[in-house]
Formats: sequence, structure tokens, C-alpha cells
Amino acid sequence: MASGVSDVSFNLLKLEYAQKKDILLDYYQKAATFLIDVYTVLKRENIHENLISRKVFGLINNIFAFSDCAASAMNQITVDTNGDLYNCQCNMCSERKLGNIFSLNKQVNFHDVMYDKLPINNPYCNNCEALSLCGGGCSYQSELNSSEIDEGYCEYIKRILEWYLTELYLQSIK
Ligand code: SF4
Ligand code: SF4
Repeated sequence: MASGVSDVSFNLLKLEYAQKKDILLDYYQKAATFLIDVYTVLKRENIHENLISRKVFGLINNIFAFSDCAASAMNQITVDTNGDLYNCQCNMCSERKLGNIFSLNKQVNFHDVMYDKLPINNPYCNNCEALSLCGGGCSYQSELNSSEIDEGYCEYIKRILEWYLTELYLQSIK
């Protein structure tokens, strides 16, 4: 292609200041609209946009999104400069310490409350229409906002699903 660009990847912000729910939801709604627009434009140019593309890929191929976060899925270890072990690199407080790499004398249990908050384990998400593509966003964000879920991401993913189903419908009546 003319630009030489084949892939573009965005990431959603963590909003530590967003104790105000309206700021958080406004940002994620705007981010969803922006990313859908960018995905649509780039697709025309055969450029792959990662965030929306992976959700579309999951929907097309019936792949259940278990977790968007490696730490929540217990597939990630964070080691600090003292050798202390944690799940999430943003939440290395003493209560979340799993052990220390220099004094491991037993198998470390990587289970964390983040795992219980994943949509598949979270009663809040049981009847959600977007359960299969969600993955739960960022558990740390939900803790910052004292919520059972990452509310901004929840808003974002429902907007993605609405857009995708609308596109499918519009294509079906062409
Ligand atoms: S909980 Fe959030 S900040 Fe921590 S690793 Fe997962 S996505 Fe990143
Ligand atoms: S979109 Fe919201 S309610 Fe639905 S599974 Fe995700 S976090 Fe849960």
C-alpha cells in the first residue's frame, strides 16, 4: 500500500482521576466511536487496526473472549526491582503481593480477585448480551472506581457490539 503501514494499534487510557463516573463513561463512548471510525477508514486501505479487529475476528469465528487482561487470566507475572511478585503491573501494593522470586519455597498461588471479576465468573455479567466478546477490560480500573466491573470498558464493548450487529443487518438488506 502507498503509506507502507500495515498495522495500527491503539490502547484505551486508564483514568485514575475518573472517580467521576460521567467523565469515565464519556471518554469510553467517544473512544468507541473514534475507533470504529478509524477501523472503517483503515480497512478500506487494507490497514489492520488491532483493537476493533480482534473483537470482529472473535465474533466472526465464534471465539469466546475469556479475558482481555493477561494478569486477570493468571497468564502474567510482574516482578518489581526487589524481586516481589504481583499479577498486575499497575497495582503493586502490599496486599496484592504473591511472593518474592528470591525466597520461593512453595508453589505460588497466582489466584487474585481479578480472576473472579472476569465476565465468565462475575454474577454481574451473567445475562449480558456482550458476554462472549467482552473479556472484562481492566480489573484495576474497576478497583479504582470501586465497581464490580470496568464500567467504561463495559460501555465501550456494548457500543462495539451494537455497531457490529447494525452493520450485519444493513448488509443483509442490501
Ligand atoms: S488489570 Fe488492568 S492495568 Fe492490570 S494488567 Fe490488567 S489491564 Fe493492565
Ligand atoms: S459488557 Fe459489561 S456487563 Fe457485559 S460482560 Fe462486559 S463488563 Fe460484564
